[in-house]
Amino acid sequence: MRWCPGSVLHLQRSVRLRLCCRRGRNRLPLWIREIWAYMRLLVRSLCFNSLTDSDVVFDSIFEPVFVTVDYVTRWFGMVFVCLVVILTSSIVVIAYVVLLPLVLNTYSPAWIAWHVCYGHWNLIMIAFHYYKAAKTSPGYPPTERNDRPFVSVCKKCILPKPARTHHCGICNRCILKMDHHCPWLNNCVGHFNHRYFFSFCLFMTLGCVYCSISGRNLFLDAYNALERFKHMDLEKPGIPVTGMGLLIGLLPSGQTNFHTPAPPYSFRDKMIHKSIIYMWVLTSTVGVALGALTLWHALLISRGETSIEKHINYKEAKRMAKCGKAYKNPFSFGRLNNWKIFFGVEKRSHWVTRVLLPSGHAPHCDGLTWDISPVKQDLIPV
Ligand SMILES: [Zn+2]
Ligand SMILES: [Zn+2]
Repeated sequence: MRWCPGSVLHLQRSVRLRLCCRRGRNRLPLWIREIWAYMRLLVRSLCFNSLTDSDVVFDSIFEPVFVTVDYVTRWFGMVFVCLVVILTSSIVVIAYVVLLPLVLNTYSPAWIAWHVCYGHWNLIMIAFHYYKAAKTSPGYPPTERNDRPFVSVCKKCILPKPARTHHCGICNRCILKMDHHCPWLNNCVGHFNHRYFFSFCLFMTLGCVYCSISGRNLFLDAYNALERFKHMDLEKPGIPVTGMGLLIGLLPSGQTNFHTPAPPYSFRDKMIHKSIIYMWVLTSTVGVALGALTLWHALLISRGETSIEKHINYKEAKRMAKCGKAYKNPFSFGRLNNWKIFFGVEKRSHWVTRVLLPSGHAPHCDGLTWDISPVKQDLIPV
C-alpha cells in the first residue's frame, strides 16, 4: 500500500470533522441525549425480530404514553388512597352525627337494632378489606435460583415468569396472578390480595346501596327544605339580590311588599340538610360505578380468569376457532368451584367465617404452580 500526501490530508480532515461532531453532540444537555438514545432504542425495537406484529408496533409507539401514565399513577397513588379514606370517613361522620340521632329518636326498636347492627358490620367489613387489600403484598416470583416451573422470561425483570404472572409497569416488577394495578389502593391486585380487593368492592357497594336506599326520603326532605328556604331567603325584605336588588336595598324598609318575617332556619339545620344531600349523592354515584366494577369482577371470578387473562383467553379462543378447535380456560373448574377456590371455602361454615366475616386466611395455592383441570369435576365437595 502506498501513502500519498492527499490521502493523509483527507484522513486528518475526516477525523477532525468527527471529533467536532462528537464535541458538538456532547455539548447537549444530558436529558436531551438520554431522550434521543431512548427514541433510537424505540425505533430499533420496532424491527427487533421476525415476531414483530401490530401489537408490538402499537405498544412501541405508545410506550412514552404508557410510561407517563405509569409515572403519574405511581406518584399520585397516596393522593387516591387519602381521597378514599377522607370520603369514606366523611360519610361515617355524617352517619354518626346526623343520621344516628334521627334513627334513635324516630324508629322502632327493631329498626334501630337492624340499622345499628347492619351499619357497623358493613363498616367493619369495608375497613378491614380496604386495609388488607392495600397493605398485603400481591405476591412476587422468586428472584433466586429455583426449580419451579415457569412459562416465559420477563423482558424487563430478566427473571423467569411462573404461569399467570405478569409484569406491572407501575410497581416495576412481576406480580403473581396479576389482575391489575389499582390506584385507589396504591397497590397491585394479585394472588395474595385479590380476595381482599373483591370483598372491599362488594362491601363498599353494599354500603353505598344501603345508604342510598335508607337515606332516600331524608334526601328528598332535605332537598325540598333547602329549595323552600332558598326562595324564602331571596324574598326577605331589604335583601339585595341582583343589580336592581342593590337599589332596593337602599330604599327604606317601609316601601317593600313583604313584612312577614321568615321562619327560623338556623345554620345548623342548613348544614344537616346539606350533609344529607352530600351523603346521598356521593353514595348513589359510587354505588352505581363501583357496583358495575364489582359485577364485572364477579363475572371474571365465575370464569376463573383475571382481567389480564380475559384478553389473553379471548385472543386464544379466536385463534383456536380459526383452526376449528374450542378453547378451554385451564384454570377454570366450574362456576361454583371457582368461587370456592377464590374465597378459600373448604367446608360449609367457611361461607360465614371466611366470606361474611373478616378473615385473613391465605389463598388456595402459592401462586407459583397451579392445578390444571382438563375436565369439569367437583374438587371441593361442600
Ligand atoms: Zn417483570
Ligand atoms: Zn402494580
